[in-house]
Amino acid sequence: MKPPGRVQPGTEPLCMVCGQPAHFFSRDSEPLCLRAECKHVLGKKQHMGKKAYDLFFRLQAGQAKKTIEYVTVIRKKMEEKKAKETRENLACWTRSVKEELGLNPEEYPFSVIPTNAKKIEDLPAFRRQAFRTHVSELICEVVSDPLSVPPAEEPDHPGNPPSKLEQAFQIKACSICRGGCCKAGGDHAFLKPETISRVMEKHPDESPENVMDAYTGFLPEKNFKDSCVNHTASGCSLPKEMRSHICNRYLCDGLMAIQEMFAAKPYPKGVFFIRRAQDNWNKDDCSLDNPILAHELVLASRYIDE
Ligand code: SF4
Ligand code: SF4
Ligand SMILES: [Zn+2]
Repeated sequence: MKPPGRVQPGTEPLCMVCGQPAHFFSRDSEPLCLRAECKHVLGKKQHMGKKAYDLFFRLQAGQAKKTIEYVTVIRKKMEEKKAKETRENLACWTRSVKEELGLNPEEYPFSVIPTNAKKIEDLPAFRRQAFRTHVSELICEVVSDPLSVPPAEEPDHPGNPPSKLEQAFQIKACSICRGGCCKAGGDHAFLKPETISRVMEKHPDESPENVMDAYTGFLPEKNFKDSCVNHTASGCSLPKEMRSHICNRYLCDGLMAIQEMFAAKPYPKGVFFIRRAQDNWNKDDCSLDNPILAHELVLASRYIDE
């Protein structure tokens, strides 16, 4: 027996606000979907006069339908874009690995890597200052109220750490991409009180001033324009132990693909890297072209022999 108020199967009523399939009936027996906005619209009925509510309903329902149409179009474009890129990736991989090199593609899986295409510039003084302010505020927070700092950050790799070979391929991926995710670091570099607390715990003899000097001392002269203040041509200017756990643990889609390749043995004999034009945050933007710029087969033997 169905609970009261549930939509009966087969009747398929539509939400009275947005016109999408309804999931239940409201107290007024009006069919509603699960969107909070639709519930909100109906909830206003008892608090508004009829005329005002009718107008409010018309405006809100029109807006809800437009939003749903927009989201549907974007989702469809995204699916088409992803399907096209998948076809291109597969074609590029099989053509290079199987047809040109005569190798078994299953032993040389592929990983798609974004691109940081920013130019190097002098790190602007105002950005340097913004970073200093951010770090000094974090240090003050940690020193003045240590109990308010959330518990220590989790280790870089919960569970089994990645094998040396997997790490080598991850490092290679990031060097091909040149930091396509680092622009999100802005002037804060994802540093949080937990990061500073971890660093200070590891170096109990260092004063807050020394910690401050260490962070500002690693600020580069030049960085990638509009990227993290610490993002340089040779990678991150901060040592790993001073970076946030977000920076140390982040895996983009390409690195996740590598992680999956090494989840079970036998390990791949190599990784075929496909580099696309957009960075990590723009790659899913349907309005931007994201062609393949380069590809490269990196053999595992190159690292095993080292
Ligand atoms: S994590 Fe991914 S996006 Fe970031 S630098 Fe490495 S390959 Fe590029
Ligand atoms: S601190 Fe380093 S790893 Fe983190 S966003 Fe900035 S450049 Fe990238
Ligand atoms: Zn609805």
